[in-house]
Amino acid sequence: MEQSPALSGEELAALRERYRLERERRVRPDGVRQYLGADAEFGYYAADPYAGEPAEREPVRDRVDVAVVGGGFGGILAGARLRQKGVRRVRVIEKGGDFGGTWYWNRYPGIHCDIEAHVYLPMLDETGYVPEWKYAPGEEIRRHAVRIAEKSDLYADALFSTAVTSLTWDDTSETWIVTTDRGDKFRATYVVTATGTLSELKLPGIPGIETYRGHTFHTSRWDYGYTGGTPDGGLTGLADKRVGVVGTGATGIQVVPKLAEDAGHLYVFQRTPSTVDVRANRRTTARDVGADRPGWATERRDNFLRIVSGEQVDQDLVADRWTSSAGLLEKLVPSFRRQGDREVFEAAYEAADAAKMNEIRARVDETVTDPETAEKLKPWYRYACKRPTFSDLYLQAFNRDNVTLVDTADTHGIERMTERGVVVGDTEYELDCLIFATGFSVGVSGVHSGRLPVTGRGGVRLQDAWRAHGPRTLHGFTSNGFPNLIQLGGTQSASSVNYTHVLDEHAVHAAALISAAEARGAVVEPSREAEDAWLAVCAQDAPDHEWFHAECTPGYYNAEGRGRPNGPTAYPHGAAAFHDLLRRWRDESVDEVLRARAATADRKV
Ligand code: NDP
Repeated sequence: MEQSPALSGEELAALRERYRLERERRVRPDGVRQYLGADAEFGYYAADPYAGEPAEREPVRDRVDVAVVGGGFGGILAGARLRQKGVRRVRVIEKGGDFGGTWYWNRYPGIHCDIEAHVYLPMLDETGYVPEWKYAPGEEIRRHAVRIAEKSDLYADALFSTAVTSLTWDDTSETWIVTTDRGDKFRATYVVTATGTLSELKLPGIPGIETYRGHTFHTSRWDYGYTGGTPDGGLTGLADKRVGVVGTGATGIQVVPKLAEDAGHLYVFQRTPSTVDVRANRRTTARDVGADRPGWATERRDNFLRIVSGEQVDQDLVADRWTSSAGLLEKLVPSFRRQGDREVFEAAYEAADAAKMNEIRARVDETVTDPETAEKLKPWYRYACKRPTFSDLYLQAFNRDNVTLVDTADTHGIERMTERGVVVGDTEYELDCLIFATGFSVGVSGVHSGRLPVTGRGGVRLQDAWRAHGPRTLHGFTSNGFPNLIQLGGTQSASSVNYTHVLDEHAVHAAALISAAEARGAVVEPSREAEDAWLAVCAQDAPDHEWFHAECTPGYYNAEGRGRPNGPTAYPHGAAAFHDLLRRWRDESVDEVLRARAATADRKV
C-alpha cells in the first residue's frame, strides 16, 4: 500500500464519528428482511423481456455426460473447457432465452463493465477477439459469451428458458437425475452448477409498492418497448415522462446519465451515495495491449489478478483505479494477501482509506455545481464498505435542470408508495415510471439456499448435510456424499473483483476433474478427511474482517449492517495463490478424489 499522510488523532476521531453517525442514519431494524423477491404478485418484475413466451417443446428424457446448470460465463466456460478435454455430450440448462447470464439479463442503457475488457472477457487468446474499448459495453460482452458458446458447440444440446428444479443422485446407476420446470427428466454422469451470484433480483419492500399504478420495472429487465432506444441511449419514449430511479449502486451510476439525457424529468432516489471514481474509458488498439503476442490476454489477466489480490508485481499492465486502489480492497475481497504486521498494516490502511475517500469527496465538490446537492452525493464510510464505482458522467448529470436528487437517508429509504408515485418526508413525487436499480440477492446460489434441491448418496439433502456445521467442501468444488457434483464459484474457494477470471479457473478445474474421472473410470468424491483438511486451511490465517464490516454503512457486504459471518468461508491467501494451489494439486493429488465406480453402474451414454 502506498504511504499516505498519517491522520492526526483529532482528524481520525472526527472522521470515525462522522462515519458512525452516517451509518446510524441508515441501519434498519429489518436488515436483510427489508427486501422482496420477484415472485408471487411481483413475478412480472422477473419475466424475460427479451425471449418472449418460450416455444413449446417435448420434454427431454435422455442421458448426457455433463449437465451444466446455468448459461452465464461460469456455465459457458465450463462447457468450453470440457470440450477442450474432449467431453462429448455437454448440456447447459439456462433460465434465460440464450447464453450470457448477467449480460443476458442486464441490458439497461449505459451498461458497461467497469473491469477492463481485456482482462474481463475470457478466452481472448483462444478466440482471437480483441476489445476496442478499455471498458466494454454490455452488448459486446454478451456477444462474446455467445461467441464462446458457438465456438464450443454448446447450442446443440442446450435447454433455454428452462430452470432446473431438482438434482438427485441415483446410487444404482451412479448418475444424476435432472428435472426441470419444462417437464424434462434426464440423466447426467456429472453435474456442474454455475448458478451465479447476481441472479435473483431484489425489490425494496416499500409499504404500498403493490399499489403503484405507473409503469415500473427492474434494471435487469429493461423495458425498451416503453422507454424506446437501446443500451446506447435514445430513450425517446421518456421525453415527456416523470421518471424515478431507486438505487445508486454500480447499476444506478451507469443508468442515471442515460435517463438524464432523455427523461422529461428524472428523480434519483438515493439512500447511500456510492464512491464515484474516475472512469477514463477510451478506445484501445491491439498494439496498446500487446495483442500481437501469443498469450497476451492470459498474461494481462494474471497481472491484474495478482495486483488486486495483494501480490507484488513488477509492472501494472491495466493501470486503472482498481489497480491503483488495490491496497484498499483487503477488506472487500475475502481472500487477499495481507502484508506485514497487523497493527502497522491497519494504521496505514486507515490513512490510505481516508486519503482516498477525501479524494472521492473532493471530486464531488469539483463536479457538482449546487453545493447542497454536492453535499448529499458525498459518501461517508470507508472505501471497502460498498462496492466502488467509476463514472465520468454520473456526478455531472446532477448539474442538469431536469434532474433532482432526493436523499432518503433519514427515512431509511423511500417511505411509502401510492398509486401515483413515492413519498419521502412531506413530499409525494408523482411519477409516470419508476425503475428499480436495487440489485440482487448477492452470493445466494440456489444450491446453497435450497431453492434448487440437491439430493446425494443415500437420499441425503445437501442443505441437511450442511445445516449443523455449515458447508463442507474440498476447494469449494466437491463434497463427500455428493459424487460427481462440481460447484463453480462457491464458498471455500477464492474470489476476486474480476469474477470471470475466477470462473474460468474454476471451469478449467471442473473439466480436469471430469476428464481424470473419465480416464480412470472413476467417480469424483472427496473423503471427509480431505474436507476437514481443507476447512482447516481456510480457517488458519482467516483474516478477521468482522469488526470492519460491523462498523460499515449497511449493504450486502455486511448483511445490511449486521457484520458478516467470519467462518472459514474462503481460502485466505488470495485468488492468485489459490489458482497456483489448484494447478499443483491437479498435477500431484487429483487421485485423492477419484474412487472406483460400482461394478453395476451403467456406463452407456
Ligand atoms: P446494489 O445492491 O449495489 O445497489 C442497490 C441500490 O438500491 C443501493 O444504492 C441501495 O441503497 C438502493 N436501495 C435499496 N433499497 C432502497 C430503498 N428502500 N430506498 C432507496 N434506495 C434503496 O445493486 P446494483 O445493481 O447497483 O449492483 C449489484 C452488483 O452488480 C454490484 O455490486 C456489482 O457487483 C455488479 N455490477 C457490476 C457492474 C460492473 O461494471 N462490473 C455494473 C453494475 C453492477 P443502499 O446503498 O443504501 O442500500
